[in-house]
Parts: sequence; structure tokens; C-alpha cells
Amino acid sequence: MPKSETTPASNFILTIIREDQKTNKFNQRVHTRFPPEPNGYLHIGHAKSICLNFGLALEFKGKCNLRFDDTNPIKEELEYVESIKEDVRWLGFDWKDREFYASDYFEQLFAWAVQLIQSGKAYVDDLTADQIREYRGTLTQPGKESPYRTRPVADNLDLFKRMRVGEFPDGTRVLRAKIDMSSPNINLRDPVLYRILHTSHHRTGDTWCIYPMYDFAHGQSDSIENITHSICTLEFEDHRPLYDWFLDELGIYHPQQIEFARLNLTFTLMSKRKLLQLVQEKNVSGWDDPRMPTISGLRRRGYTPEAIRDFSERIGVAKNDSTVDMALLEHCLREDLNKRAPRVMAVLKPLKVIIDNYPENQVEEVEAYNNPEDLSMGTRKVPFSKVLYLEQDDFREDPPKKFYRLAPGREVRLRYAYFIKCVNVIKDLQTGEIRELHCTYDPASRGGESPDGRKVKATLHWVSAGHAIDAEVRLYDNLFTRPDPEEVPEGQDFRINLNPNSLEILKNCKLEPSLVKAQPADRYQFERLGYFCVDNVESKTGHLIFNRTVSLRDTWARLEKAGKSNEAAE
Ligand code: ATP
Ligand code: MG
Repeated sequence: MPKSETTPASNFILTIIREDQKTNKFNQRVHTRFPPEPNGYLHIGHAKSICLNFGLALEFKGKCNLRFDDTNPIKEELEYVESIKEDVRWLGFDWKDREFYASDYFEQLFAWAVQLIQSGKAYVDDLTADQIREYRGTLTQPGKESPYRTRPVADNLDLFKRMRVGEFPDGTRVLRAKIDMSSPNINLRDPVLYRILHTSHHRTGDTWCIYPMYDFAHGQSDSIENITHSICTLEFEDHRPLYDWFLDELGIYHPQQIEFARLNLTFTLMSKRKLLQLVQEKNVSGWDDPRMPTISGLRRRGYTPEAIRDFSERIGVAKNDSTVDMALLEHCLREDLNKRAPRVMAVLKPLKVIIDNYPENQVEEVEAYNNPEDLSMGTRKVPFSKVLYLEQDDFREDPPKKFYRLAPGREVRLRYAYFIKCVNVIKDLQTGEIRELHCTYDPASRGGESPDGRKVKATLHWVSAGHAIDAEVRLYDNLFTRPDPEEVPEGQDFRINLNPNSLEILKNCKLEPSLVKAQPADRYQFERLGYFCVDNVESKTGHLIFNRTVSLRDTWARLEKAGKSNEAAE
């Protein structure tokens, strides 16, 4: 649902907050947070949540915390914490000194658990994990009460404290809330609050061998931080009554939880668990592989923070799950890169061309616009000489009907230079492959215009062979072949939809010499081909590597023109 340029931004979350401002519910405060679990790299779905939470804080002159919900020591690592901070910063948001960790609240959470035990609202259960699952019941069947549910308060206190000091092995006991085993909401059927895990935590080390469950930590962490609006995704709607129960039973400050639909994108996945699987099984080169929907992958691919923020704004927030077309994300990217990326000429699959009537050692410099859409970006000189490279795809020995580019006997324009005409095709005698073309040029057509007004139907990019710089170029396509990677035959999983052609590496590319100064992460438009950026990980002086960020073909703009963009986005 692209937002029109003229109407002020509005969505149901803004409406709720404006109403709270009117009724003075939170004393005019707006304090949000972005609460990642440091168990993987952030993806574009998280970017939506980051833009939303930090964006609301900016809009209402409030605050947004960065809080790591680090309650699970088994899956969490420092590497993830560092990557998350880098990604949030790169997206353009600043949490100032408000970097918090749920693990900082472990002592307080423990005290609250003790408080619940003392008021008869929590008990230590000796059932095994399997038994607890079995006793929980199902959506259609009520649960069954544990025989330990009626344990006296004093015994519960004693056992819980002994759990904390490490007297019991993993999995032997848990602390559970005493709520309602027959509640239609399964989250309220005596949820587990604490489990025993003799595992070091990336921040608290070996201080603890019992850890709070996410549900017992999340709402209270929001409360401790005085969050006004706890914005989360729809799957937490059913957890809200539980979070409310904790806050009410403990008698502590109550933020307002608001749920919105998570972002799904076509041709990719948003589950950290599955993305981790792709990394571990080496289907991709890492979390920052340019095909990954992770923020670090998008950054390496050449995405700009502006494009991602624009995308988040355009998709808005909704109450219903939907899948956004990847073409919209790419459209936002092209719009941004079109403004900022300097144009250069690069030949990806070179075909050697010799201009027979051009003087042997002559080099001319033609003047080229750095961005025809923004003349303030200036011009540069590009060397032209007798031997050039053209794109193999721009020549056909036997041209089909609508092929207007170079062919034997045909004349075309070389961008910013001359008209050339193909006079001879030299082939390898053994293989029949085309080795080089011979052409003539019209010296009177310098700059690309013919004095006699004759027309050509194509303008091609080129690079002077003697001046070209070598580079490797990596072309990316969707990681999955289907819009919904989860659509699989019975018994299979998303991996069968991996696109075997998602990466094509071209080793012999020829770039115009102005690119010697290209630095990691610099972005360019290679004329007629797409937007490319210098790989920020593997590219080195002497071995330049470019990633194709996105091609020039804008399928979104086409859909919009045909009036089909809404269908595609929903
Ligand atoms: P995953 O299910 O992939 O592990 P998660 O929701 O558990 O993701 P968290 O680290 O808990 O990941 O997410 C941090 C915040 O980002 C949460 O507030 C969550 O609601 C939000 N978020 C996660 N995925 C999306 C998404 N696809 N769209 C919008 N927000 C998301
Ligand atoms: Mg989560």
C-alpha cells in the first residue's frame, strides 16, 4: 500500500498513540524499544520494526531503547549483539546511552518470581518436560493440573532457591505460574517461568544456572524500562493476557502492548532459524551473503539505508499478515540509487573490437556525464582508442528481427564517442567462436551525432582495451525459485526451492579506468546493466570485486503502470 506523497503518514499505531497523547495516558511520554533476541543477524523484517519503533520515537520527540532479550544462553552469542548494533546504527538510528539487556534484570526477575511464589501464584514442578507437554492439553482439550501444583509455599521457596544455587541437574524441575490449566488460551495454562540450565551466559557468565523464560522476562523488562508502547508482532497477541497477568500480580507499571503484522517478502525467508540453517549448511557464504535478506547481506549487496527506510514507510503497518512483493523493495532501491549512483561504463562479457580506420597509437578522451539525471554531478573523461571491448550480448552475427544492436554491416553508436560499423567477424577456426570484430568508425560522428543526420537504432557502452581495469563481477538472483519458498511437496522443506542459479561469477570483466579509485561499498550504475557496488568484504586493490545490487529493469514500475501493484503487494 504505497503511501501517497501528499497525505500525512497515518496508521493504526499512530492513531493509538495520538489518542494516548490526548487522554494524557502516559503523561505525553512516548517511549518505545526495539527488542531483538541476539540469536542471529537482523533481517529486513527487523528493519521494519526498527524503523517503526525508532521512527515513532522521533516523530513524538520520545525515546527508543535498544534492548537485547538475552534470556536463552544456548543460542545467543556476542557476535550477534555486535552485528545487531552495527545494523541499527547503519540504518540511521541512535539509541544513545539506552543499550539494555534483559540479563541485567535477572536479579529483579528472580525477586519477582519469589514474590509470585510467596503469594501462592507460582510453584516448583517436578514433572518432566514430556509430562508437562502432555498435561498441557490441546486447543480442544483442557489441560490437567500437575500433582505438584499444591506444594506449600515454603517448599516452593526452598526448592526454587536450591534450583538457583545449582543443586539440581538440567531439566529436573521448573518454576511455573499458577494460573488456569483449563484456560482456552494455552499460554495461561501454568506457563513455565524458570528452567534449570547449567550453561554460561554471554554476559552473566556462570552466575546463573536457572534462566527466566522469554515470556517471563519480556513484559517485565518493558515495565522496568518504563516503555509506553510495547510494539510487537501478531504472534504475541495471545501472549498479551499472560504479560498482563504478570504485571497485575506483581503490581508494577503497565506499558501498552500493540501488535502489528510481521513483514513477509516474496522469494525469501524471514525466520532466523532457517537463515541460520542456510549459513550452517553453506547454501550461502555467511549471514552477510548478498543474497540473504539480512541487513548485513543487503548492505553488502549495495542497498542504502535510505532505500530500506523508504520501503518500511511505504509498506506501512497493518493488522493482517501479508506478503510484500520483492519488486517493491527493489523499486525503492532503484529510486534512491538513480539519484546518487554515478554512471560508468563496464563490459561484463567482453568481445574485442578493432576499429580498422582509427590511428594506431591515438587516444582521445571523450567527455561523459556522471549522472545525466543530475548534471551537478559533473562529467569525466573516458579514453577511446583503436581496440575496444563491447558486450558479447550486443552483437549477433545473425540478428533476429527486433535485435537493433551490432551485426555484420550494421552501424551503431558508441556512447559519448562515434558511430561504428561492423565490417568483419573473425572466428576461431577450430571452435567457430567469435574472437573479434573489425569495424570502421565515422570520424565526423564524434560525440555521437552524425553530420548528415543519419540515424542508428542502438547506443552501446564500451571500454578501451588498453585502458580497461579487470574486475570480477558477481550477479545475484533470488535465493529461491518460488515466491513462497515454503511451498513444497509433502515431506520436503524450503531447501528444495533454493535457486541453483542465484549466483553467477564473471571473472573477466573490463571496467573504464575511472574505477581505479573505487573503494569498498562504493556504488555505481554500470550503464545499461544495472547498479553495482564494490564488495565490502572480499574486494582488494589488484582484485576488484563488484556485486550487482539490482538490474535496471523495474518490474514494480511496470506493475504500477498496469494498475496491478496493489494485487502484487498483498
Ligand atoms: P525469528 O522468528 O526469525 O527468530 P523473532 O521475532 O524471534 O524472529 P526477535 O529478535 O525476537 O526475532 O525480533 C525482534 C523484534 O523484531 C521483535 O519485536 C519482533 O516482533 C520484530 N520482528 C521480527 N521479525 C519481524 C518481521 N518479519 N516483521 C516485522 N517485525 C519483525
Ligand atoms: Mg522473538
